Amino acid sequence: MRIRAALALAAVAALAGCSGDVTPLPFTPDRPQAEATTPAPGGGKAAPACNPRASLRPAGSLPKPGNMPAGSYMATIQERGRLILGTSQDTLLFSSRNPFSGKIEGFDVDMGRQIAEAIFGDPDKIQIKVIGYDKRVSSAADGSVDIVADTMTANCERWADVNFSSIYYEAGQKVLVSKNSTAESIDDLGGKKVCSAAGSTSFENIGKVKTKPIAVARPAFGDCLVAFQRNEVDGISTDDTILAGMAAQDPYAKVIGKRFTEEPYAIAMNKTHPEFARFVNAVLERNRADGTWKKTYDKWLGDFGAAPPPPKAQYR
Ligand code: GLU
Repeated sequence: MRIRAALALAAVAALAGCSGDVTPLPFTPDRPQAEATTPAPGGGKAAPACNPRASLRPAGSLPKPGNMPAGSYMATIQERGRLILGTSQDTLLFSSRNPFSGKIEGFDVDMGRQIAEAIFGDPDKIQIKVIGYDKRVSSAADGSVDIVADTMTANCERWADVNFSSIYYEAGQKVLVSKNSTAESIDDLGGKKVCSAAGSTSFENIGKVKTKPIAVARPAFGDCLVAFQRNEVDGISTDDTILAGMAAQDPYAKVIGKRFTEEPYAIAMNKTHPEFARFVNAVLERNRADGTWKKTYDKWLGDFGAAPPPPKAQYR
């Protein structure tokens, strides 16, 4: 029911043209930040081997809201009076604009609201900046946002430029095609045009498929859906979560095949504030344990079935 309601909202949006104590760690200089790039499909800079799911361990229990430790990045946010979240506005169920309230809402937005609540005691002390998929790494790295929660996969290449939280959602890539397509998986789309958002791991992954589908980039997945509906592309490939939202909006579309990648979602932050990553991980830990994560899942994704256990945190 929630999906139906959300889809109705999305359709209207489309018509409306809506496009204890955490001790701060001593400052440790990070290596210089590399420039964020959008690699060619199948290419990309070589990433050092790492466990992308392993983040920085929380340092003790959480400070009381409104009482962030002096000198910490959390105190800087508290002084500013709002947390700045970078996210999308067209990813149904994760971060999309509700045309009636004008607010951007979804699972990813709630991740941000829960962090704002931990800092201020008020989840509304949040400013949402809409960013392109290809600006997720650079926005966290240049400090124009405090956090990015935007269906963002933690991988080793991105870890070179940002700190990630522990994993808050496990997704995987699939493909969406027309209902009358005979394709059973992305392997059957060799030589066909398959759309994905520029700067997404999905775009790169299409380039790695052996049968060589033609990867087509659009600024956002909403643009891919429009391209698909205009027959400019034969399919769309990205995370199953995002595709499920699209398939529900288009009665002539279906999602096929099994997940062919792992896309663990994490919150990206600037590398110069490791104490903030530890704080965010403490918030995520608490929310897994006290049922907040499950409530968030049920609220946004409950129509897909019972909530799985939350992803278990891994630390370095
Ligand atoms: N999760 C993938 C990524 O972070 C693809 C979906 C997206 O772009 O949000 O690139």
